[in-house]
Order: sequence, then C-alpha cells, then structure tokens
Amino acid sequence: MILFDRVTKMYPNKSMALSGINVHIQPKEFVTIVGSSGAGKSTLIKLLTREEVQTSGKIIVGGVDYDTIEKGKVPHLRRRIGVVFQDFKLLPGRNVFENVAFALEVSGYRGREIKRSVPKVLQLVGLKGKDSNFPEELSGGERQRVAIARALVRQPKILIADEPTGNLDPKNAWEIIELLLKINRFGTTVLLTTHNKEIVNALKRRVITINRGRIAKDEEIGRYAI
Ligand code: ADP
Repeated sequence: MILFDRVTKMYPNKSMALSGINVHIQPKEFVTIVGSSGAGKSTLIKLLTREEVQTSGKIIVGGVDYDTIEKGKVPHLRRRIGVVFQDFKLLPGRNVFENVAFALEVSGYRGREIKRSVPKVLQLVGLKGKDSNFPEELSGGERQRVAIARALVRQPKILIADEPTGNLDPKNAWEIIELLLKINRFGTTVLLTTHNKEIVNALKRRVITINRGRIAKDEEIGRYAI
C-alpha cells in the first residue's frame, strides 16, 4: 500500500513541486501517472524512493512511515521499489547477465543466488539467450528489458516505470507495456508515468493526472485528453 497524505514538496529554491497531494494506491494496482513537464511526476517518484524528503505531510509505503526511517535503512527500503527510466541507465561495460547481477551484488547476494535468480528474470522479460550481449549490441526495446530485469531481480513489491517507452518506437513501446502488465499480473504494483496518450487510453487502468503539483484527476478508467 502506498499512502500520500497531504504531501507537499517545496525545493530549497522555493519551487513548489507538490502541494498537499493525497494518493492511495493498493497493492497489485497498475496506475498511470500523467501530467505535463514540470507537473511534479518526478518529484512524486523521488519522494517514493526517498531520494527527496517531503516538506510536509505523511508518506507510508508497505506499512513503513517514511518519517521514522533511519538514514541507514533507506537502501533496504529502495530494494522493495524497482525503478526503470526512459534512458535505461545500463552499465555499458557489462553484459546483460552482469548488468542484472550487479543489482544483486550491491545488495550483498552471493554467486549461487545470482546464478539462480538472473536467468529466471531474463526469461521472464524475454531476454533468454542474450546473457552475454553488451548493451550496445541490443535494440532499445531489449535494453529496456534489461533495465526491467535489473529492477525486478530483487523481487520488489513496487515497480516504477518512469517514461519507459519514451525512447522506443511504437512496436517496442507496446511490448514494454505488455511486459509491465504481465509483471503486474504476477502481483507487483506498477506505477507508470507516460506522455503517450494512446498507451494511457488503451490501458484502461487507473490514471492520476498531476497538474502544477496538484492531483487534477484520479480516474479508474482513463480517457485521457492532453
Ligand atoms: P515532472 O516530472 O512532472 O516534469 P518535476 O517533479 O520534475 O515535474 O518538477 C516539478 C517542479 O519542481 C518544477 O517546477 C521543477 O522546476 C521543480 N523542481 C524539480 N526538481 C527540482 C530541484 N531539484 N530543485 C528545484 N526545483 C525543482
């Protein structure tokens, strides 16, 4: 469960990114977050991953009240939330297997667990047989699959996909959306931000529209018009 209760975020330069927003997301939901550039979407995500701290209001995720987390516990919290970005953020000098394994290595997993978990997640995202390819040898869609595999390998409860299709052609974009739906069916809460109107309309899932730091709309089935 994700709960934002009257959450406000003002950056040090007095820029008011979010003003008193209330959001309640149930486990296993698939929620799309839309809004024009500067609306506050990234700020919402950064508050969720604790990259930024709210100015006021309450954030509770999976029963954890963010006000009570000690600094040392933040990495543990982040392990429960996977994030993928528009620009993939893969390590160019590592192959597919190593990129995914890296997420486990930094969390202190051992060789045996890595050898067991990585092939499973690569199969799930449709990258079987690509283990030893380097990012530059992959298409955009495949690169995003590696990023998704890396986000999933620690079995997060929540997957945040921040404009994951922004750099992809329509066919690859759809395949990535279908993969996110499959991951959601397996029980992971998915938060997707996108500018793509066709995707939002076709998804027919809950759509939260942010406008100038406020929730402008929160609709169960989205017919979204920019
Ligand atoms: P979006 O992701 O919807 O484009 P953001 O959350 O990035 O929106 O930005 C919301 C507002 O907060 C904008 O006015 C932006 O300029 C401001 N903002 C975002 N990040 C910072 C920051 N680190 N410092 C100051 N202002 C920021």
